[in-house]
Amino acid sequence: MNHAQPPQDQDTYKTLLESTKAIPWKIDWASKRFSYIGPQIEALLGWTPDSWQSVEDWVARMHEEDRERVFNFCVSQSLQGRDHEADYRALTADGGVVWIRDVVHVIRAANGEPEALIGFMFDISERKQTEQQLLDLQKQLEMLSYQDGLTGVANRRRFEEVLAREWLEACQHQQPLALMMIDIDYFKQFNDFHGHLKGDEILKQVANTLARAGTRAKDFFARFGGEEFAWILPDTDLAAAGKIAERCRNLIFKAQIPHPDSAISQLLTISVGVGSMIPTTADELKDFVADVDRLMYLAKHQGRGRIILQTSA
Ligand code: GH3
Ligand code: MG
Ligand code: MG
Repeated sequence: MNHAQPPQDQDTYKTLLESTKAIPWKIDWASKRFSYIGPQIEALLGWTPDSWQSVEDWVARMHEEDRERVFNFCVSQSLQGRDHEADYRALTADGGVVWIRDVVHVIRAANGEPEALIGFMFDISERKQTEQQLLDLQKQLEMLSYQDGLTGVANRRRFEEVLAREWLEACQHQQPLALMMIDIDYFKQFNDFHGHLKGDEILKQVANTLARAGTRAKDFFARFGGEEFAWILPDTDLAAAGKIAERCRNLIFKAQIPHPDSAISQLLTISVGVGSMIPTTADELKDFVADVDRLMYLAKHQGRGRIILQTSA
């Protein structure tokens, strides 16, 4: 077989180097000056090859957030004689940025000291953009997985997580944790009367109305399921939680949502159960949730449209 002959002269090397997309360069270690940079650099970043004089030009044309990290990394790797690569944002002459991966080979003198660095700069902007899009998508997915699709408030899954976390906090700091369960009255009849679509629309309205009742940053509201909602109120005793429950009921009353088929009112109403406790390691979270749920059902049995507070044990 006839193998291709290696290039014989420098011109051939130069042609090869300067016709690749990667941009070759060489820096003399002692003077920290560029002894070569491929002319392709001008098409990519807009700076003429002549303008790349020293390492300082390279550093100055780097995004300020990347400068220190990349410079320190490259210097320390070079001093140890290690080949390395670094990703950074290079500044273009017209004020833009291009993501670069610089792949660096360290040439060492006989005494082991670096003599020169040679490398290739690759334009990795597209890859970085795809990476960013992936990260954004991931974040969006995570958010969606915690959000109720219909109402936009937090979903049951998120509720369970937050409740477990707050339960632990309350246990550790021996602070009261309040829980409120809210259920719309006669919602089946509402759907039967107005249709499911109108029902969905009202569920959204009710969710957004109830979500306004909390006042503190850690107060947490979620759709528990169907037409049931819940407030988790950290560091809140029963009296304070009762006030938030009253606010929920008032907000729904003020919304004046017609419900002609309700057996107790012409307007849509809610039944609410409220409990608060300072948990200890002997207590079970699921018992607390079941207790508060029972209080909500007690509100139903006692006529609906009302709030039942836990009686102290
Ligand atoms: P109660 O006063 O005893 O709570 O009566 P209710 O009819 O509200 O209670 P029940 O639990 O029997 O029924 C809840 C109804 O809520 C059943 C269902 O039609 C309705 N519902 C649950 N989720 C949705 C939803 O996402 N959209 C709509 N439109 N309706 C829903
Ligand atoms: Mg229900
Ligand atoms: Mg109901």
